[in-house]
Amino acid sequence: MEKRLNEEGFILGHDPWTLPVATIGGAISTNSLGYRGGIYGSMGEQVLGLEAVLPNGEVLRTRSVPKSSAGINLKFLLIGGEGCFGIITEATVRIFPAPEKRTLHAILFESFEQGYGAIQRIFRQGLRPAVVDFGDGGDEFRGGAVLYLAFEGNQETVAAEEKIALSICDRDGGSRLLQEEAERFWRDRHIIARRFMQNRRQRRERGSDGIYRDWIHVALPGSKVLPFRKAAIEIIERRGVHLQESGLWIQPELFSMRLGIEDEGDNKAQLVLEETVDELLRLVQSMGGSMEYTHGVGVKLAHHMEKEHGYGLEVMRQIKKVLDPNNIMNPGKMGF
Ligand SMILES: Cc1cc2nc3c(=O)[nH]c(=O)nc-3n(C[C@H](O)[C@H](O)[C@H](O)COP(=O)(O)OP(=O)(O)OC[C@H]3O[C@@H](n4cnc5c(N)ncnc54)[C@H](O)[C@@H]3O)c2cc1C
Repeated sequence: MEKRLNEEGFILGHDPWTLPVATIGGAISTNSLGYRGGIYGSMGEQVLGLEAVLPNGEVLRTRSVPKSSAGINLKFLLIGGEGCFGIITEATVRIFPAPEKRTLHAILFESFEQGYGAIQRIFRQGLRPAVVDFGDGGDEFRGGAVLYLAFEGNQETVAAEEKIALSICDRDGGSRLLQEEAERFWRDRHIIARRFMQNRRQRRERGSDGIYRDWIHVALPGSKVLPFRKAAIEIIERRGVHLQESGLWIQPELFSMRLGIEDEGDNKAQLVLEETVDELLRLVQSMGGSMEYTHGVGVKLAHHMEKEHGYGLEVMRQIKKVLDPNNIMNPGKMGF
């Protein structure tokens, strides 16, 4: 779809890590987020209307309009619904003109906290970068944290936004890395995904280097990100797990961590990793955050749905029961 739109001078705007393999139905059903979500929104936010076949065979169609005040908008049964309420067979999604200009920067901060402060100030100015990809953990950056920042759109607007954002980064102690580093990041952003998708098993099982890895992608109130990160590091260290990377994606409230633990041959590593992730997600929820902002719940996170939604889970279960009494659509997912 992206290629076809590009031929006509448009873009889809949705640019997930998994762009080479993701489908529109899957992206809507997980309310997926892409690299340029900062200006184009999540896949769910781009959906104007859709058509879906419900478990009883009836066809549900919602109106393709940007705003309506005529009852509950049933597209939200399908956006983030992970295929549990119906199968999306058609969708009308917002597309965008190809940007006139894109600017890319790579900025090194001495610490995660220093970079986090700069990003918060950029957003407080009302700027909306197309891309914010910020993280620590790269050995080549000597313990610092790198911010990849992009603006795109109309030439004059981009120039003005870039100027303000870079002056904030300069003032907050950031140092600009070579332009090649920013270009490399942009060029390679889907390469790792391609490799990963060829070996999907790697995600939760032992890598060829003998390390089990897992990720968390959580949403928190902005004021809670640094306190959560600090508490999470204590939990991770106490459990003997390694924090390989922590970072932000798209906006300051969306926080991720990559964890790893060596397999010492006693079959305990994977269990320790799973228990650590569970403890971190419970902490996020008790701090007012959400356990997952982009990949969906699936089966893996289903046991956290009760704490995530409280009575809301029961409401979802009742809706599911009415629409899918025999639980034929993705049983076990999302706690159904
Ligand atoms: C390495 C890796 C990187 C990832 N990076 C990102 C990222 O950058 N951003 C992001 O948001 N996600 C990411 N994901 C998660 C996921 O790949 C994406 O959300 C992707 O968009 C899902 O699309 P898919 O076609 O692969 O869906 P699938 O994985 O096939 O399906 C996802 C869910 O949607 C349901 N579904 C699929 N099609 C339909 C349909 N037509 N109607 C109803 N339900 C349907 C499925 O039943 C399933 O529950 C990543 C995953 C991996 C493994």
